[in-house]
Amino acid sequence: MNIILLGPPGAGKGTQAQRLVDAHAMRQLSTGDMLRAAVRAGTPTGLEAKAVMERGELVSDAIVSSLIGEELDSMGADTGAIFDGYPRTAEQARSLDSILDARGRTLDHVIELEVNEDALVDRICGRYTCASCGKGYHDKFELPQVPGVCDKCGSTEFKRRPDDNEETVRTRMAEYRAKTAPILPIYETRGIVSRVNGMEEIDHVSAAIEAILKG
Ligand code: AMP
Repeated sequence: MNIILLGPPGAGKGTQAQRLVDAHAMRQLSTGDMLRAAVRAGTPTGLEAKAVMERGELVSDAIVSSLIGEELDSMGADTGAIFDGYPRTAEQARSLDSILDARGRTLDHVIELEVNEDALVDRICGRYTCASCGKGYHDKFELPQVPGVCDKCGSTEFKRRPDDNEETVRTRMAEYRAKTAPILPIYETRGIVSRVNGMEEIDHVSAAIEAILKG
C-alpha cells in the first residue's frame, strides 16, 4: 500500500506516519527529514536546501523528487510507502506518478488532515523532540513526566527545528495554501482522497486513518 499524508505544517503528518510505521510493514518517506539529514551531513543538496528551509520556502522539485526515488529504490517491493510532506507542488505530484509507475507501485490513498490553521502556530512553535530517540514533546501539551528527561529513552538532550518559529511557520503555511492545497483536485478526480479531522486527539486521528486503510 502506498499513501500520501497531506496537510499544512503541524497537522500531525509526521506523528501519524510514525504510528503507521509501528503498526504496519510500511516506511515513512519524509522529504523534510531527508533534507534535514542532508543539511546535517553537509552534502551539496543540504548546502543548497539550508537557507531555503530556514525561510520556510520550498526546495526545488527536482531535488525532493530525486530523494524520493532513491529512498523507494532502497526499499523492498513489498514495503508500503507513506509519503509525508511530499508531494508539495503539482510538478512533484506528476513526478510521483512517474516514480511510482516506473517501480510498479500504485497510489492507494491520499489522506488530508484537516486542521484549524490558527491553532497550528501554537502547536508548532512549542514542539521539540528527544535528540536521541526522536520522541516528540510540546511545551504546553506534552511535557516529559520527569522534567528534562525523555520518557522513552531517558536521554536529557532535546532539540527544536530552526524553522519552527512563528515567522517561518507563517511562510510555510502560505506555501501550503498556494502550492500544495491545489494538488488535491488531481487526486479527487481519481477518487482516492479521504479527509480526517486533524484537530482530534492523536489516537482518534490514528483510528480514523486505520479505518480508511481498511476500506
Ligand atoms: P517538513 O519537515 O515537511 O515541514 O519540511 C521542512 C522544510 O523542508 C519545508 O519548509 C521545505 O523548505 C522543505 N521541504 C520538505 N519537503 C519538501 C517538498 N516536498 N518540496 C519542497 N520543499 C520541501
